[in-house]
Amino acid sequence: MKILRSIFSVQKYIKQVRGKNKTIGFVPTMGALHQGHLKLVKEARRENAIVIVSIFVNPVQFGPSEDFKKYPRQIKQDSLLLDDEKVDVVFYPTVEMVYPRGYLTYVNVESVSEGLCGAYRPGHFKGVATVVAKLLNIIMPDAIYLGQKDGQQVAVLKRMVNDLNFPVKVKVVKTVREKDGLAMSSRNRYLNDEERQQAPVLWQALRSAQDMIRSGEYNSGKVVTAIMTHITEKSSAKVQYVCIVDKNTLEPLKECRKDAMIAVAVYFGSTRLIDNIII
Ligand code: AMP
Repeated sequence: MKILRSIFSVQKYIKQVRGKNKTIGFVPTMGALHQGHLKLVKEARRENAIVIVSIFVNPVQFGPSEDFKKYPRQIKQDSLLLDDEKVDVVFYPTVEMVYPRGYLTYVNVESVSEGLCGAYRPGHFKGVATVVAKLLNIIMPDAIYLGQKDGQQVAVLKRMVNDLNFPVKVKVVKTVREKDGLAMSSRNRYLNDEERQQAPVLWQALRSAQDMIRSGEYNSGKVVTAIMTHITEKSSAKVQYVCIVDKNTLEPLKECRKDAMIAVAVYFGSTRLIDNIII
């Protein structure tokens, strides 16, 4: 496995393998890898001749009061995990390389970036779309692998790929969970013991909402209230939002129907957790 730090070296590598007509699967990450990330890598490995994983903690997608500085960085451990998965290349650029002095160009996917997390993290999806657009231009993969865990990110990036005609397939991988249902996340490590014990309440609330809908309750308002009540009664989490939206346009839905996504964001202390379920 090669660890390449410069854009030039990645492009040179890509040119060589492209000549051999090999398909490239690409998995963008911010590192601090867990089994959720590795599921994406395994899918990419299964479907492509070449697998490239990027590790880049993208400053542009963090707000001024967010955890950019504190975000876990563990390249050695991550490289070992990726080597075990038979990844071909880890692209591990510096911030200066991705955003050199004088950088001015950003990608803004309107509307889908604005609700849910976008309402509380202004500029976040502009940062995500910009860095992924850059990585797609550098790597030119055949397929990009994204996790359903970040449901809004999937909607934003699918829209961007369509709108800007990136010649890439978007593959969405099911959320990988701990045994107790908590969605794996690099931020779970910030939870203290009590918060960690309570954190599966998110998935439990989403699952009971799904049962509620299956037994005929389609009214979004009622389902949202049930989820909020479930979370606040069974944990110390502070709910930031519970929304029922169309999974592609992210427009709010009055009725829970096929392709509805129920998305939640909560705080356990200062740790923000998100999760979602597709109905
Ligand atoms: P991140 O490093 O948090 O930017 O995540 C990189 C990619 O891994 C994104 O496409 C995430 O949606 C995906 N991912 C993160 N956690 C999980 C999980 N628990 N299950 C599946 N995919 C995940």
